[in-house]
Amino acid sequence: MRLSLRWKLTLSYLLVISVLILVLGGLLLHAWNVLGPMFPAVAPAVWRRLELMLLTAVGLAVLVAFFLGVKLASDISNPLEEVTRAARRLAQGDFSVHLRRESRDEIGELAAAFAHMSETLKAKLEEIAAAKSRLEAVLRYTVSGLVLLDTRGRVMMMNPAAEKLFGLSAEAAVGRHHIEVIRDYHLSAAIGEAKEKRCVVSREVNLLYPEERTVQAYVAPVWETDEITGLIVVFHDITELRRLERLRTEFVASVSHELRTPLTAIRGFSETLLNGALEDRAAAEHFLRIIDDEARRLSALIDDLLDLSRLELKRANLNIVTFALGPLVESIATSLKPRLEKAELRLEIALSEPDLSVQGDKDRIRQVLLNLLDNSIKYTPPGGRITVRAVRQGETVQVEVEDTGRGIPPEDLGRIFERFYRVDKARSRGDGGTGLGLAIVKHIVELHGGRVWATSRLGKGTTISFTLPAGKPLT
Ligand code: ADP
Repeated sequence: MRLSLRWKLTLSYLLVISVLILVLGGLLLHAWNVLGPMFPAVAPAVWRRLELMLLTAVGLAVLVAFFLGVKLASDISNPLEEVTRAARRLAQGDFSVHLRRESRDEIGELAAAFAHMSETLKAKLEEIAAAKSRLEAVLRYTVSGLVLLDTRGRVMMMNPAAEKLFGLSAEAAVGRHHIEVIRDYHLSAAIGEAKEKRCVVSREVNLLYPEERTVQAYVAPVWETDEITGLIVVFHDITELRRLERLRTEFVASVSHELRTPLTAIRGFSETLLNGALEDRAAAEHFLRIIDDEARRLSALIDDLLDLSRLELKRANLNIVTFALGPLVESIATSLKPRLEKAELRLEIALSEPDLSVQGDKDRIRQVLLNLLDNSIKYTPPGGRITVRAVRQGETVQVEVEDTGRGIPPEDLGRIFERFYRVDKARSRGDGGTGLGLAIVKHIVELHGGRVWATSRLGKGTTISFTLPAGKPLT
């Protein structure tokens, strides 16, 4: 039979008191037997009454002992039961339990110690939870991918940046071997090396899945006292960095090439002149004209390059004003009249409203229109037509420069806004183009918050369109 502490204590009390009563009763009986014969005068009825009283007293004493036992047992077991209940709730994570500290004895001290322990535990757990949520926030918002591996190379944890990098959710990755997640032999080798040599290993790798990316990976062992308990792999996505480096190298190569072409011509013809062609006046004049043309081209190229770099660095301070588009287009048309006549081209201006206005830097917008019209003149055969159109579309104005020229092949259409991109390299250079005109147009339009695009039909013509913020109504 399992007895609770309360009943065990009650029975113990009862047992002790009963023993005491029995001893006392025994003593009394002994006294009775000794003293009884000494008082013969006492009537038997009186003795019986005395016996009855004695028995009643014993019975009462046992009853009182029982209730006292119950009370004392409760005094001890109640707080203990309370501590047990509280410990159970604490184990379930309920820190709202409060113990009454009524007595000043050992039970009271136990309750006090328990309360202290519960408070310390609560504070420690809160500290751990705060540290955990801080760590989670760092892992969630860090731009670098992080993967934690166990000593067998299985994924234990992965942050959202790594999920994105490997196209796999953390749930799906945890428990898998890293090679199934990372899918790169070189990286796997670096992980093995870090574990073996017990040091940080760094490696640049190209990931092919889910999209091609270049990452710099750092593999570091995680130590606990003297043991390696896992490995942490940090991934820095350097795709953009490498792309920019490649672009810069390509740009330097293109610039050098573009500069070398006119310089080679200048050197060639000046050497020819120095080697005797000076004597032949007609030839000398012809060569000098070429030298002059090439020098002009060189100068135009350098101007465009400087302009482009200013625009790319966003150092070109725009002087934004609201101005009417009509007069600007008219003045450009007037300045281009001699060239249009020479090229036998007709220019038409079609604005949806006569006083259509835009917000922008007037000089820069003039440069955009001049570059586009310059291209249309260069690439449209005689007899063709060039149209400048503008229409208001809510908050923006869409401007189009359309020509009936030779057009651009569809495969080149997406690249004509790149620096130095030319459809027909030799011909464009021959026409005096720097290959930077449309790149400058794109930058200027984008600096105004607009966008630019091209549509074309080979042999039929090209339309370059761009948007600008519409002018605010003049009050
Ligand atoms: P470029 O100085 O060579 O004209 P751009 O950047 O202005 O350089 O233009 C890039 C290329 O786009 C040109 O070399 C040409 O091949 C093509 N292009 C631009 N505008 C036109 C157009 N209106 N018609 C046909 N081709 C064009």
